[in-house]
Amino acid sequence: MSAQTAPAVPTADIIAWRRHFHRNPELSFQEHETSAFVAAKLEEFGIEVQRPTETSVLGILRGGKGEGKVVALRADMDALPLQEDTGEEFSSVKDGIAHACGHDAHTAMLLGAAKTLADMRAEFAGTVKFIFQHAEEKNPGGAIEMVEAGVVDDVDGIYGIHVMNQKLGTLSVHKGAASTIAGGFFATIQGQGSHGSMPQNGIDPVLVGAQSVVALNTITARSVAPANMNIVNVGRFLSGDAPNVIPDTASLGVSIRSDNDDDYAVMSRRAEEIIDGVCAAHGASAEYQWADAYPVVINNDELCDIAFAAGQKLIGDDAYWGPGTSASEDFSWFAKKVPGCFLFLGAGTEEDGLPYMNHHPKFNINENCLEIGAQIEVQVALDFLAK
Ligand SMILES: [Zn+2]
Ligand SMILES: [Zn+2]
Repeated sequence: MSAQTAPAVPTADIIAWRRHFHRNPELSFQEHETSAFVAAKLEEFGIEVQRPTETSVLGILRGGKGEGKVVALRADMDALPLQEDTGEEFSSVKDGIAHACGHDAHTAMLLGAAKTLADMRAEFAGTVKFIFQHAEEKNPGGAIEMVEAGVVDDVDGIYGIHVMNQKLGTLSVHKGAASTIAGGFFATIQGQGSHGSMPQNGIDPVLVGAQSVVALNTITARSVAPANMNIVNVGRFLSGDAPNVIPDTASLGVSIRSDNDDDYAVMSRRAEEIIDGVCAAHGASAEYQWADAYPVVINNDELCDIAFAAGQKLIGDDAYWGPGTSASEDFSWFAKKVPGCFLFLGAGTEEDGLPYMNHHPKFNINENCLEIGAQIEVQVALDFLAK
């Protein structure tokens, strides 16, 4: 096939599938009907189907021109626990569950790409793996389970694509860190309550908390390199009820965000050291409840170059080098195991009447992006295998 010709993807089917998924969303780890639908379609296309976990699907397609490299394309399938408010005729039929991150689009596009690649299997060497992942939206996430199940053990490169609130039909490629790691903790500071008139009998957790907040703000200034994107934020400080009482405890809610896992580890360690140190100075103690997010997605340079060139062939300068995202994504587990590249597809902006970001009850996409997204998936797979 000529690389200049856009791959013929089944656009009408992709749109219909997307609407089917959109109408019938399923929460993370509960993608039973979605995964069954996907598995049935892949079988219909003549693609070998495996079920690595209860609600995930792996399709394996071997090219007719013999052995070669193995490329993987990944889509996530889960929806979010929120009430849809798009007003679409194909809105969610389930109360409090909605495809507000566009994973319905990802699943439909990858099915379309799978059909196209299956129809042209005689024309390429190597193997394409279609990874339909469960549970991107909920820790610990589905990607780590699929990696542990070995789905990428033989994979030479993996691509993922996410619809974003960016210019319709554009492809944004970013080398290096394409997402952040964002986690944090609640710290419960245990002091000792007392009458406010007799502070010598108490251990004041308000004072310990206040000094901790000030000291935590030194982490980004003194413990990690200023060139990196690092944030420590204390967004919650709860303690006490009355001005004349020294309370027993104080609670701090702290978020930590970074564009690299190393700084994140340093900041996490320093945060506990600082609070523990302030506690020790006053005879208090602290306990921590951590909520870790996914690691940073690190895009591989060579895979980015292939994707950028594929995009330029299909849509010219609508394929561009763009920024990473401040969100986090469990595609990172795949990209830690094998070379990976996570791409952003423009699903429309305010100019297209789509001002709402992913995870908003009114988040929606312009379906014209679906055909381009599927074509990009087909093209990057073929170009990766040919290289
Ligand atoms: Zn999301
Ligand atoms: Zn998402």
